[in-house]
Amino acid sequence: MQQHVESYYAASRNRHDIYAPLVDVIEADVCVIGAGYTGLSTALFLLEQGYSVAVLEAAKVGFGASGRNGGQIVNSYSRDIDVIEKTVGARQAQLLGEMAFEGGRIIRDRVAKYGIQCDLKDGGVFAAITAKQMHHLESQKRLWERYGHTQLELMDARLTREVVGTDRYVGGMLDMSGGHIHPLNLALGEAAAVTSLGGRIFEQSPAIRIDRGANPVVHTPQGRVRAKFVVVAGNAYLGGLIPELAAKSMPCGTQVLTTEPLSEELARSLLPQDYCVEDCNYLLDYYRLSADNRLIFGGGVVYGARDPADIEAIIRPKLLKTFPQLKDVKIDYTWTGNFLLTLSRLPQVGRLGDNIYYSQGCSGHGVTYTHLAGKVLANAIRGQTESFDAFAQLPHYPFPGGRLFRVPFTAMGACYYQLRDRLGF
Ligand SMILES: Cc1cc2nc3c(=O)[nH]c(=O)nc-3n(C[C@H](O)[C@H](O)[C@H](O)COP(=O)(O)OP(=O)(O)OC[C@H]3O[C@@H](n4cnc5c(N)ncnc54)[C@H](O)[C@@H]3O)c2cc1C
Repeated sequence: MQQHVESYYAASRNRHDIYAPLVDVIEADVCVIGAGYTGLSTALFLLEQGYSVAVLEAAKVGFGASGRNGGQIVNSYSRDIDVIEKTVGARQAQLLGEMAFEGGRIIRDRVAKYGIQCDLKDGGVFAAITAKQMHHLESQKRLWERYGHTQLELMDARLTREVVGTDRYVGGMLDMSGGHIHPLNLALGEAAAVTSLGGRIFEQSPAIRIDRGANPVVHTPQGRVRAKFVVVAGNAYLGGLIPELAAKSMPCGTQVLTTEPLSEELARSLLPQDYCVEDCNYLLDYYRLSADNRLIFGGGVVYGARDPADIEAIIRPKLLKTFPQLKDVKIDYTWTGNFLLTLSRLPQVGRLGDNIYYSQGCSGHGVTYTHLAGKVLANAIRGQTESFDAFAQLPHYPFPGGRLFRVPFTAMGACYYQLRDRLGF
């Protein structure tokens, strides 16, 4: 049986229900495949509209990225809105731009409505390491204001130093609609909300086949769900269930470490306002404090999602580059998790046939995007397709190099961007 990966989150998760595997033939309006944020958010929006929903989870609720991530509520997409404008034109970009900060609001609504205990804190910082990155933040702020998002605040080096205890940054941008959460407890709380509304969740129940057609049937090793609609929300852990979806995306690993609990004084000297931080590098570092004053620090990407042998050896040097004062601090937990990358770094959203919906591959900023995706997919199933169409029309391309060479080719591309970050051009 697959359990949550060993992590700080698994060690500090709330008491939660264990959901039995599916061993029956059942019916539901919608069968959701995957109990990460995408699946749970979709299930919740549908249940709130009176649909019956069955959620199949191959392992445990929050087993995937949703239970292992950095916990950062970072709004917007993994591609800048001006690039999106150039790709899709002004009207579609307007719709996408208006939705770009909605995911954080959905999380806060869920936490309040269902009383989810997940250490929610407000405030996220984008930290600039070079002058070029700072100029970029300035232009992004101006752009977002055009879309009505006026809450962003630029910070010079001195102000940034007041909220992040390092001399590494030349400035930053504060988003008080960002913030952070205990990600696994958010997923577990959302699952409890699903069942409180009559939704059914089955753990240890991988979808192994879908009979497509007017009345799709989703098969698990010991059961079946007959449904009117299917939502595929397996993201980087989906494997080959839907071959069409694998062709234009690539699972990638990213690693996280957690320090021992820091003294109150040391913790406040690192992040006095308890904001979360991500830097502006192409391969970015992200970090925040936990509720018990540990520093949770992530970074780096392993293309093709191999599990690195020694995570501390990869992440600790990054941590010390930002906070050399932590050189004697013990690392209590390290783990890896997979997210799904697309070539454009924009999500893949769509429908197969008339009734199989999917959203995957947001390539980062997934904590917020996946919550928005739930709303977008649920609305599409209800026949309101405007926001779904705006995502579904985003163009997607296969990675260069085909199945054999896409990993080395993409890694080479990333090296180029890493070099640009280092040299500041
Ligand atoms: C280490 C790490 C750190 C990250 N940090 C951040 C961050 O700080 N902020 C941020 O915004 N984003 C972050 N991300 C990205 C974010 O976590 C993801 O984008 C998001 O959680 C994806 O949610 P999901 O529901 O689409 O997929 P997942 O959470 O991966 O869930 C997919 C689920 O589907 C299940 N599944 C797969 N196939 C099947 C099947 N055939 N049948 C049944 N079930 C199936 C899996 O077991 C899994 O539980 C991070 C990702 C990782 C890996």
